[in-house]
Amino acid sequence: MTRCESDRGVVFDIQRFSVHDGPGIRTTVFLKGCPLKCLWCHNPESQSMQPVLSFERELCIMCGECVKECSRNAQAIVDGARIIRRELCSGCGRCVEACNTNALILKGQTMTVEEVFREVIRDELLYRKSKGGITISGGEPLMQPTFTYNILRRGKEHNLHTTIETCGHAPWASLKKILKVTDLVIYDLKHMDSIQHKKFVGVDNVLILKNLKKIIEKEKEVHVRVPLIPGLNDSEDNLLKIAEFFKHLRVTSVEFIPYHEFASTKYELLGMDYSLKALTAYTSEELEQKRKKMAKLGIKIVIGV
Ligand code: SF4
Ligand code: SF4
Repeated sequence: MTRCESDRGVVFDIQRFSVHDGPGIRTTVFLKGCPLKCLWCHNPESQSMQPVLSFERELCIMCGECVKECSRNAQAIVDGARIIRRELCSGCGRCVEACNTNALILKGQTMTVEEVFREVIRDELLYRKSKGGITISGGEPLMQPTFTYNILRRGKEHNLHTTIETCGHAPWASLKKILKVTDLVIYDLKHMDSIQHKKFVGVDNVLILKNLKKIIEKEKEVHVRVPLIPGLNDSEDNLLKIAEFFKHLRVTSVEFIPYHEFASTKYELLGMDYSLKALTAYTSEELEQKRKKMAKLGIKIVIGV
């Protein structure tokens, strides 16, 4: 591994004062790149490793400054219509610099481990008071394993609590190394049926289930999350299989993350198609029914956000 590969990574967001990504108050670092393509993905800007442009049409005053800056002809105003030819964009960010209305935002930037850690350590006092720390999320942190490892290692040097949020679709060797500097693993499980899994997220679930079992066997603290998507993975059969799988592993509590409709706007800003536009969120009664059903099967459900 060269110095460049291990010291630098592509980050699309750093959120301070996070309270949903592990215990206490935390800073969550969101990395670019994901091996899955979940139909319901609520961070579509994270999927590719390359920076992507977000364009908010309502903020555009058609001044044409971005068009002048773009040497690749990706920005254009044609017959009074504002056009972005995303396939020509290299992600250089010059148009973003030129735009005075913030209509354009580049999602994704290369940062060093130290640049990320400088952001994280700003809230060290808060972490100590709240028993919080640092969480690496994504995208998928295991797409940039050395970068993830090095950030978490810096956290451990300062005795911070460390968490990763992962889909688990990665070589065990990468995961095993990262576990050495990780206190808590937040692990996403999407579907127990491998064929359905592949249909909805693009890969089967074999490696994901295998890695999850290995982490639990290592007695590492694991918090399992299941994104609950109406009509896709919330059938009686799938819920029963989830319950059986976790009871077998002596996991008694799982968090459901119910589908919500907020992601739709993000897809529009990124010029991406969103295939679940017609889906509506659960009512609180529907969620309560699912929670009770799982309780009867021996699994305590926490409803997350
Ligand atoms: S990011 Fe660079 S290549 Fe992409 S549209 Fe803007 S100026 Fe053009
Ligand atoms: S620079 Fe900004 S406001 Fe001007 S045309 Fe481009 S996106 Fe619109």
